[in-house]
Amino acid sequence: MEESRRETAAVILAAGRGTRMGGSTRKQYLELEGRPLICHALEAFERSPVDRIVLVTGAGEEEYCKREIVDACGFSKVTAVVPGGRERYHSVYEGLKAVGDCDIVLIHDGARPCVTEEIIRAAMDGAAASGACVIGMPVKDTIKVADDHEDAEYTPDRSRLWLIQTPQAFSCRLITAAYEALLADPYAQQGVTDDAMVVEKMSGQKVHLIRGSYENIKVTTPEDLEVAGVFLRRRKKE
Ligand code: C5P
Repeated sequence: MEESRRETAAVILAAGRGTRMGGSTRKQYLELEGRPLICHALEAFERSPVDRIVLVTGAGEEEYCKREIVDACGFSKVTAVVPGGRERYHSVYEGLKAVGDCDIVLIHDGARPCVTEEIIRAAMDGAAASGACVIGMPVKDTIKVADDHEDAEYTPDRSRLWLIQTPQAFSCRLITAAYEALLADPYAQQGVTDDAMVVEKMSGQKVHLIRGSYENIKVTTPEDLEVAGVFLRRRKKE
């Protein structure tokens, strides 16, 4: 199928509590380069070939988000703003329900403001080619697995380790079926932190890894906000 005829939707997640950031303002609304943090990811998707966007926000924040984020910034591809849930996977499921029928779905952490149109296109192409892909980068540091006493238990082979980011992109049918199976199985929900895991666990389909950028960081703590500011400012000058 040609890219132009493939209906592509994005679910952008902004329903996390962001407790590791501290402070009283929710992370997604903190100012980054003169705008609320969430606006940066939304703008990248708005400019990309994605057809429509569902924004998942905290319960009770939908009207605020529509008015102050979507309308104020003129994000015309946002077709729905829906409340998320307790865990990230609950929020994704709410987003997928609002997406409805399409060919490809991209799921993105709204807390990754440095995502680019190029990365979004790579994820779309990857999903079209293999049905399931995630953006990531090979790790640069040595990683150790700790035991319960914080002693190093073992050291996995670094050459095979990747940092996994978002967007994560899938055939709509595959990801919807995988999430429906996950939500019906509380045991399988334990330890789920990304969408690729849901597909691996619930469908057995292989997920392809695609190189993104070391700049596509997730803003979790105050220093991440400063680093994201550096990347965005540098990009503006280029
Ligand atoms: O908590 P974590 O760092 O995995 O969050 C990644 C993304 O998922 C963030 O953009 C956050 O807002 C979102 N999230 C969500 N609903 C939750 C938890 C996280 O939308 N219940």
